[in-house]
Amino acid sequence: MLNKIQAFIDAHEQEMLEDAMELIRINSERMPAQPGMPFGEGNAKVLAKGMEILEKRGFAAKNYDNYVVTADLNDKPSRLDVLAHLDVVPAGEGFTVCEPFAPVVKDGKLYGRGSADDKGPAVAALYAMMAVRELGAELSGNCRLIWGSDEECGSSDIRYYYGIEKHAPMTVSPDADFPLIHIEKGSLGMRFAAKTNATEGVRLVYSQVGTKRNVVPGKAAVVIAGMEFAQLNAVAQTAAERTGTQAVLTEQENGIQVLFVGESCHAASPEKGNNALTAMLSFLGDVPFADAKQKKLFENLTKLYPHGDYYGKALNVAHEDESGRLTLCLTIFAYDGETVCAEFDSRVPVCGTKENTLDVIWAQMVEAGFTPEPCGMNPAHYVPKDSEFVKTLLSCYKDVTGIDGEPIAIGGGTYVHHIENGVAFGCADPAVDNRMHGADEFMSVEQMKKSAAIYAMAILKLCK
Ligand SMILES: [Zn+2]
Repeated sequence: MLNKIQAFIDAHEQEMLEDAMELIRINSERMPAQPGMPFGEGNAKVLAKGMEILEKRGFAAKNYDNYVVTADLNDKPSRLDVLAHLDVVPAGEGFTVCEPFAPVVKDGKLYGRGSADDKGPAVAALYAMMAVRELGAELSGNCRLIWGSDEECGSSDIRYYYGIEKHAPMTVSPDADFPLIHIEKGSLGMRFAAKTNATEGVRLVYSQVGTKRNVVPGKAAVVIAGMEFAQLNAVAQTAAERTGTQAVLTEQENGIQVLFVGESCHAASPEKGNNALTAMLSFLGDVPFADAKQKKLFENLTKLYPHGDYYGKALNVAHEDESGRLTLCLTIFAYDGETVCAEFDSRVPVCGTKENTLDVIWAQMVEAGFTPEPCGMNPAHYVPKDSEFVKTLLSCYKDVTGIDGEPIAIGGGTYVHHIENGVAFGCADPAVDNRMHGADEFMSVEQMKKSAAIYAMAILKLCK
């Protein structure tokens, strides 16, 4: 069976690459909505091209109001959805092998924006369906290929689609890494604030740290008034030494700015960076603020978010299970002269609940003098690793690669985060940096062919 599939894919390699290149030639980053084009002109165009390709390859295709296009393998009951996307992140700068939307195949790699994320994988899945059809095997269930167009900006495309159609009993998304992701942690973000203003003595004047909740800040600055430069410098340098950051002081009209420089990283893996904001807090905890309430606020905050605590230990929420450890990092902080407010990002393992996580943090923030804004928890996504579904997919991966793959847990969310019994399955080789979202993004042609064969085996086994 596998031999026949691989022979089919070998024989159709050129068409497969052509189809992927046709899609890559269209800039499908999100653009302003227009009537009948919810994600703008580029995405409407790429979906139209997608329809054209699906029909050219002989499938019954359907366009759902320019949100997604679909193709069915047969008219049997729904069994497996394969969910990929045709939208891309903006081209950015620095492409050297080709222009971002003028794809080329060079040294066995298909280059261009979207080649790996996710147009190449989308087309690999199409050729898997073609290979299965060619085999003429009798199947009892349908495989539906779904090409969405809003994965990069919030996945409202599939929310729309699943408002019309039911989920299949099983869903696979070729929009991540092999072997397979069966756990995606949940997430919790909280914003909290407190009033504090002092006009005399040592006092906080201004601060604005962080841009996005899911990014650990690499720089954090605060303006303090009422203190001698040398004295403030001594406090800052002590904090910098303690936290492995650098502190740079600058005289300003309204006081002295103290800038901490650490290292930025993604909030889902905070141990990869060095949070400049918690270093700054550690410093603020040592500043002899004149106002007793202000002093207490920062002492409290420093205790709850100590520098280097990536796992919510100080907040008593350091949960851990097979999905990994809870991570928590303070990423945003601001003071405008009246109100101090801050936000954290937390990735929560399967065992984390509202009761043992959100409520626990909430109570401590209130006790520390802050008012949290109402927020909810986005639950974790989990498909048991000993389910037939996961075992079957891993067996297909092994059929083609010879590798015994272990399912993995991640802190981020994929296209299937809200889809019951959905897993991300390929098609990147985790050992290869395909520069997804960066310049010179590429998809290895070998990997694309292997992936198509793996998906074909999966369709055969799951829809039989
Ligand atoms: Zn993607």
